[in-house]
Amino acid sequence: MAELHRNLIDGVWVDGEGVANINPSDTNDVIGHYAGATGDQAADAIRAARAAFPAWSRSGLMERHAILRKTADEIFARKDELGRLLAREEGKTLPEGIGETVRAGQVFEFFAGEALRLAGETVPSVRPGVGVEITREAVGVVGIITPWNFPIAIPAWKIAPALCYGNTVVFKPAELVPGCAWAIVDILHRAGLPKGVLNLVMGKGSVVGQAMLDSPDVDAITFTGSVATGTRVAAACAKHMRKVQLEMGGKNPLVVLDDADLATAVDCAVNGAFFSTGQRCTASSRLVVTQGIHDRFVEAATEKLRALVVDNALKEGTQIGPVVDENQLAQDEKYIAIGRDEGAKLAFGGERLNRETPGFYLQPALFTEASNTMRISREEIFGPVASVIRVKDYEEALSVANDTPFGLSAGICTTSLKHATHFKRNAEAGMVMVNLPTAGVDFHVPFGGRKGSSYGPREQGRYAAEFYTTVKTAYTLA
Ligand code: NAD
Repeated sequence: MAELHRNLIDGVWVDGEGVANINPSDTNDVIGHYAGATGDQAADAIRAARAAFPAWSRSGLMERHAILRKTADEIFARKDELGRLLAREEGKTLPEGIGETVRAGQVFEFFAGEALRLAGETVPSVRPGVGVEITREAVGVVGIITPWNFPIAIPAWKIAPALCYGNTVVFKPAELVPGCAWAIVDILHRAGLPKGVLNLVMGKGSVVGQAMLDSPDVDAITFTGSVATGTRVAAACAKHMRKVQLEMGGKNPLVVLDDADLATAVDCAVNGAFFSTGQRCTASSRLVVTQGIHDRFVEAATEKLRALVVDNALKEGTQIGPVVDENQLAQDEKYIAIGRDEGAKLAFGGERLNRETPGFYLQPALFTEASNTMRISREEIFGPVASVIRVKDYEEALSVANDTPFGLSAGICTTSLKHATHFKRNAEAGMVMVNLPTAGVDFHVPFGGRKGSSYGPREQGRYAAEFYTTVKTAYTLA
């Protein structure tokens, strides 16, 4: 058996039972074996993080800056190798894998800078002779629980701010993508983090994740994943009166108006709905199209879909890689059957595909004649499946766009300044895109949503400080 990738607890690589990491583009390809942690090991990791907190939270800013900077530099230098690992374990295409790796480097670079820009406020008191200082302090031990669909970027945008602001970390990555998680922790460890500051516990959510939720010694939990697990995380955090941040699902609308530039609208729809195999929380799974452009849009989008190359993620020229695993593929197929039963028309795709290597290949599926009340329009599918919902005009389009339990990203394709402006103001979503795909965001600005998509403070950019710090107000009579 190949070398076992172990968990990092209190600065030591610790053994565990090896679990095979399988390539979804080629199920004969075993990427490596990764140790599943036990509940006791999770408890050890939490203890180590607690013990390391006092010193790390008071560490010099140059130390934090240097470690984050060094991590960014190594990620940039190894972007091709890490991007390949990502594509191999998650099934994103190689260019997408490299792009996400660069994004992770940029996040560490950004927070290396933020470590040198920590600031507070000094304000006069309403009482003469008294001064008031408002400062931010680290929260404590932060539990980080991540999903499989952004195996390096999401861990980066949680770990980097946690360390930047002086917190210690227990990190549990998703079971399907331990490779990128292990690599990023290895880099940070070698960059010089003191023992116990960052602990890696790979393995099952029901064991390792649950141990983190149940521990009274974790001060905050940041979670990205499904609504079902997020709800459980929130309940556990309420029980312990612990700070929590949840980023969950989406059912993001892309509105296409009669006056849209057709090529732009089709590009936004196909990119937003199907790239990264549609496995993005910001994917445009509802294409809300006004009647004057509807038929031209469907024809052009179908043509574009027909030309897409679905194949092994590592193969040159592949545009859509495989679905992440058999379970997710079965879920996608289940929803395709539900859509048909509900009366939507499968205008393109939806079949399993065979390729040279055995993998979980699915032809991107486009439904037309869908209504916003169908299950395929209300529930997150999380695969390369999108529906076109025909509407009369802008007013109906906005109403359909907002009629969803989710509120992560919303897009509009239009050449009307009036409608673009109105949509920006009235879309019930955390992020709004005009003539851009609903997926694809910057790393230096806030990320997050409303309603069932997110709970708690925003992630990324300077807004990350809201979650990873706690505010102190100090009064002094001088
Ligand atoms: P998931 O909820 O199944 O798992 C997420 C993480 O939670 C994994 O690490 C898992 O092991 C862990 N977990 C499972 N059970 C647990 C428990 N009892 N206690 C603690 N942890 C537990 O989600 P997934 O399938 O990995 O990811 C897909 C979901 O993530 C989709 O719904 C997608 O929309 C969402 N997502 C959201 C965003 C966002 O920012 N809004 C970004 C990416 C993905």
